Amino acid sequence: MAELILIGTGCGIPYKKNGPPCFAIKEKERTLIVDIGYDSLYKILKYVNVNSIQDIFITHTHPDHFWGVIPLCFYLKCLSKSTQKSFLRIFGHERVGFFLSFLKDYYSWFERKPEINFFKVEICESGIEVDGIYYYALKTEHSEDSLAYKFVVSNKKIVFTGDAEYNSDLVKFAKDAYILVSECSFLDNGKGHMDIRGFRKLFFESGTEKIVLVHNYRENGFDKALFKLKDELKESLIIGEDGLKINF
Ligand SMILES: [Zn+2]
Ligand SMILES: [Zn+2]
Repeated sequence: MAELILIGTGCGIPYKKNGPPCFAIKEKERTLIVDIGYDSLYKILKYVNVNSIQDIFITHTHPDHFWGVIPLCFYLKCLSKSTQKSFLRIFGHERVGFFLSFLKDYYSWFERKPEINFFKVEICESGIEVDGIYYYALKTEHSEDSLAYKFVVSNKKIVFTGDAEYNSDLVKFAKDAYILVSECSFLDNGKGHMDIRGFRKLFFESGTEKIVLVHNYRENGFDKALFKLKDELKESLIIGEDGLKINF
């Protein structure tokens, strides 16, 4: 039994129930984080035992997905005297690594425990194992460094699109997912992002069991289109809200 916690379900514009992207997968004593937007630390502390976090996967380096890494690292370093935590692994595109090595050079406090190590994500069909959890990555159409992730946890596929435009590679990647956390930024013309049409197609073509809508820029008319989609997809569509938990 594992749990997906929607810690942050928003986008570049923060809303009350939809802060910058941040998700946690809890399995046994271990927590894996996907994305850590600029305002995530306080909410992570609310939902997760920080000592249980071993791995953080970053979809791309835009501030709404990544800049919470600085407050989290600082927090862990400040705690270093009172915690047993010895390491944290951060996975992502090599540009994530550039940023982290800059932080290491810039801040002397970065040398304190826990050790924070960067791992460049490999795009590999057979998946990569990290302590019993398999992950897969896919380059998406959004930014130079944008990736989607898939994790196999408790024999179920959990997929995160990150920021991504709809395409057939993403459909293939998300095939038969149990939970697909998908961005849906705009009503239409989702260039470099998903729009409602692409989101709907991704759901039906991938055959995913549940799709979670996040990263909504709340354009005029979006709510009306979303209402129609909810009527069609019923329980299979979960509209993302910060703090929501899904057991699987
Ligand atoms: Zn974003
Ligand atoms: Zn982005």
